[in-house]
Amino acid sequence: MKPDYTKYTKDKFGKEFFKKFDHLMVNRKNPKKSLMGVGIDCVNGWYNIVWDLTDTIDHYIKNNPEHISNFEIVQIKQKFGGLRYYVDNGDKLISGMIWFAESLSFITCEKCGAPGVVDGSTSYIQTLCPLHTVPKERSNSVKLKQGEDTALSIPGSSNPDYKKGFAILLEYWDSLPDEEKPKIDKELRKIGL
Ligand SMILES: [Zn+2]
Repeated sequence: MKPDYTKYTKDKFGKEFFKKFDHLMVNRKNPKKSLMGVGIDCVNGWYNIVWDLTDTIDHYIKNNPEHISNFEIVQIKQKFGGLRYYVDNGDKLISGMIWFAESLSFITCEKCGAPGVVDGSTSYIQTLCPLHTVPKERSNSVKLKQGEDTALSIPGSSNPDYKKGFAILLEYWDSLPDEEKPKIDKELRKIGL
């Protein structure tokens, strides 16, 4: 079973990530061609998403070498509350995987991986769970329901919906044109994502 990367420090996660996926970032040390030299520029709550997305892309490329050449991840960061994952020389399926992972980030606390919402209450917009939302906002916006008191006990990796989401994406994406994306969205809503 893979580790829960939301528990990793930036250094520890970076080390494992770059060791396993270095071949997907050939220009990592060249700041003119890639911004991966600064590392993965988001907080640990999204590390499972970043890992699973990259692992899925890696698996896909290895199994489809005739379709993909010179693929490269050039930047991974947080912007306006969402994950941004920039690549060169991908294809439609890879774009779909990225689109899905970025969508997941908007409902996943960047600090712990629990379900979250975009918090625009401060100038630095982040997606956060009730536990990590700025305290003054907590009292009048999001309140934890009975039994939901430990957001930290539901990290991204153990959320079954999260895994189902990836399975749905892989099952449907290949056969759907771009304009059909809303259909996938609907499927995801059905399982509560
Ligand atoms: Zn959180």
